[in-house]
Amino acid sequence: MIKEIREPLIFEISEAGKRAVELPALDVPEKKDLLAGVPLRRELEGFPEVSETEVTRHFTRLSQKNYCVDLGIYPLGSCTMKYNPKVNERLSGLPDFAASHPLASEDLVQGSLEVLKRLETYLCEIAGMDAFTLHPAAGAHGELTGMMLIRAALEARGGARKYVLIPDSAHGTNPSSAHICGYSVKEVKSNEKGTIDIEALEAAMTDEVAALMVTNPNTLGVFESDICRVAEIVHAKGGLVYMDGANMNALTGIVRPGDMGIDVLHINLHKTFSTPHGGGGPGSGPVGVKKELVPYLPVPVIGEKGGRFVLDFDRPATIGRVRSYFGNFSVIVRALCYILTLGPKGVREIAEFAVLNANYIRKSLEGEYHLKYTTPSMHECVFSDKIQKEFGVTNLDIAKRLIDYGFHPPTMSFPLIVHGALMIEPTETESRRDLDLFIDAMKAIAREAKENPEILHSAPHVAYVSRLDEVTAAKFPVLRWEKKP
Ligand SMILES: *Cc1c(COP(=O)(O)O)cnc(C)c1O
Repeated sequence: MIKEIREPLIFEISEAGKRAVELPALDVPEKKDLLAGVPLRRELEGFPEVSETEVTRHFTRLSQKNYCVDLGIYPLGSCTMKYNPKVNERLSGLPDFAASHPLASEDLVQGSLEVLKRLETYLCEIAGMDAFTLHPAAGAHGELTGMMLIRAALEARGGARKYVLIPDSAHGTNPSSAHICGYSVKEVKSNEKGTIDIEALEAAMTDEVAALMVTNPNTLGVFESDICRVAEIVHAKGGLVYMDGANMNALTGIVRPGDMGIDVLHINLHKTFSTPHGGGGPGSGPVGVKKELVPYLPVPVIGEKGGRFVLDFDRPATIGRVRSYFGNFSVIVRALCYILTLGPKGVREIAEFAVLNANYIRKSLEGEYHLKYTTPSMHECVFSDKIQKEFGVTNLDIAKRLIDYGFHPPTMSFPLIVHGALMIEPTETESRRDLDLFIDAMKAIAREAKENPEILHSAPHVAYVSRLDEVTAAKFPVLRWEKKP
């Protein structure tokens, strides 16, 4: 690592006339009129001009400043930053997939339509639902689609209702999705086990409530063990149950949300089913539904007619389109490839290892770091900085010091019901050796907090930049190069 080099913007190293490639002079007659009538730019204003060495080194240096899941454990809770097998990348990049046109006629893309249909079928099997739409482009987009389906179904029953109940342990996107769909949100408290308080739910559940949105496992990494009772309470008052299934890696092959009384759920393919994420996309948040909601699914639906796959637009009750074409196709190809390579046994092992790894970390660090909820973990565990606070050390100091030990920090200060939270999700793709390296670093930091807290306050010491002004960076981001006068 060359720490001192501040990498300039590529525009700042630009010099007029520099080229990466010098082409030989033309040895055939020049044709000038090939693009006649096409509006062409004569000049690209501000376009950087650099040599091949400069452009290669610029982007290689930038890539080395990144931490990535190909480099080491990425324990960001509620994010499932796991290793994604390269074979899925290769297959989704095959020209027959990558270059097929979304407007090609059905006859030309029967194979691609089969990919969509097969993934829908497998997701129905894994989640225990009756149908899936692959259109939503992210988890939060799936939530909004799911809430629109619930609204449509309730309107057909006689009224959309007013409220959506959301536990205080839910993911932050849930309230915003319900709100965007026109519902008012009411919070339901958790009990001391970290699960939904049944009495609080019974009191809140009225015939004005459209749905409960439940994240399961919730953001404490705790399985809602009373989920069947929860669904009964909601159904008894005519409401529907939405499950945020972004963390499906805790459940695959072991339990099926559809069997627990869930009416609608989304799954994050870019978390559970092998698409690298973190840079902002592309993602995919397929939504699964029970029979009653099938008529409202977004169009087009993939149908089958006379042994062929067809795009069915003739669905009078549909909520319409939620995205152009059919969703993020290459993410869907990766997911199908992943499921096929794993098989039923491997799909179950996703959950077995995700849960084992999280509990291994929880048990190894118990006592060194405070645990507010001692209920066994599913795919993630939530510690806090309560013990270290006595020495004046906060979760931010701990997270920053982890960078010095070569690890990406865990999620901090979330969920909100744990003060000073450090939320760790190791994922199923980490080996015992890598987990031990991370645990050793966390233990070393716990020791430093007692013996030498100053080293934590000024961490990180070996990163390119140290403590940033995060508020200013978020409020006034400098994203655009401005030409200097
Ligand atoms: C990641 C996540 C989401 C949001 O998914 P996006 O694809 O980022 O929109 C929603 N709920 C839970 C529980 C999540 O972990």
